[in-house]
Amino acid sequence: MILALHGAINAPDPQSFTSRNFVSEQEAIQQFKLISAQVVDVAEAVSGRGIAITVDDSTEAAANVARLLADAGMAVTLFVNPWNIESRQVYPFAVLNCALDQTSLQQVGFEGVVYPLADRAAKERFRRLVKSRLLSLRNEDDRVSFAAYTAEALCVPAPAIPSYLQPPTLDDLQSLLDLGVHIGNHGWTHASYAIMSAAEFTEQVRLAEGWLREHGLYEGDLFAVPDGKALPMRPARASDFGTVLLADDRLRPGRVGPCAHNRVSVDEVSTSNALTDQIDRARLDSIS
Ligand SMILES: [Zn+2]
Repeated sequence: MILALHGAINAPDPQSFTSRNFVSEQEAIQQFKLISAQVVDVAEAVSGRGIAITVDDSTEAAANVARLLADAGMAVTLFVNPWNIESRQVYPFAVLNCALDQTSLQQVGFEGVVYPLADRAAKERFRRLVKSRLLSLRNEDDRVSFAAYTAEALCVPAPAIPSYLQPPTLDDLQSLLDLGVHIGNHGWTHASYAIMSAAEFTEQVRLAEGWLREHGLYEGDLFAVPDGKALPMRPARASDFGTVLLADDRLRPGRVGPCAHNRVSVDEVSTSNALTDQIDRARLDSIS
């Protein structure tokens, strides 16, 4: 079984969009320690033994949990997008989430329509709309521009972005590697792999692979698909990318193709939603 999370921070606020997908570092480490005897690296978990831990994205929150787990003696693989590390840009979703939390608007005019923002549920509906627009843009520059346009519409043209959403530096990655963290390929950018042509998909994977190799970070041929739901099937084959990791809750955990493995998302580990319970549920559901 392979677990997937996005990072840990000091005190995530369950009501905020900014810290969504991040677990509390104290609770997470406490709970991961309970399974530490079963933790193996991804290659071993792919062949059906033990539990591997993976962390996605180029954020300090992701690097933080990878470091904490490695410090506690656990194998962990961090999947990064080199584009963010090189350009020092945060993800478009970070801009959107921070702007949503920081706006004081009660409603927003957006692409000619007025949307309410008076409570969290209304903001969540607006977020879903912007998210679907972002996922329809395959180019990262267009996504960055669209997030900036959304932030302006929310009257927060330059939202404050907490440090945990900033990309780690190359030095950070190198010190993680020294600690024993494996670094994996999450594609050059975090663009929409589900709508890319096979050639674009291949280019994204190869560019990231080249960058990881050039900086001595590349260890094997693991590719975790951004957003977790697209397989490079037509006309390229998944086998062209080594082992492809998904995180798709519509599929059962475990092997989902000759070279594809579906992970179990554990972004909501907490005292009330224990890691061991989530693993037990995934085991019952598992196909491998
Ligand atoms: Zn990701």
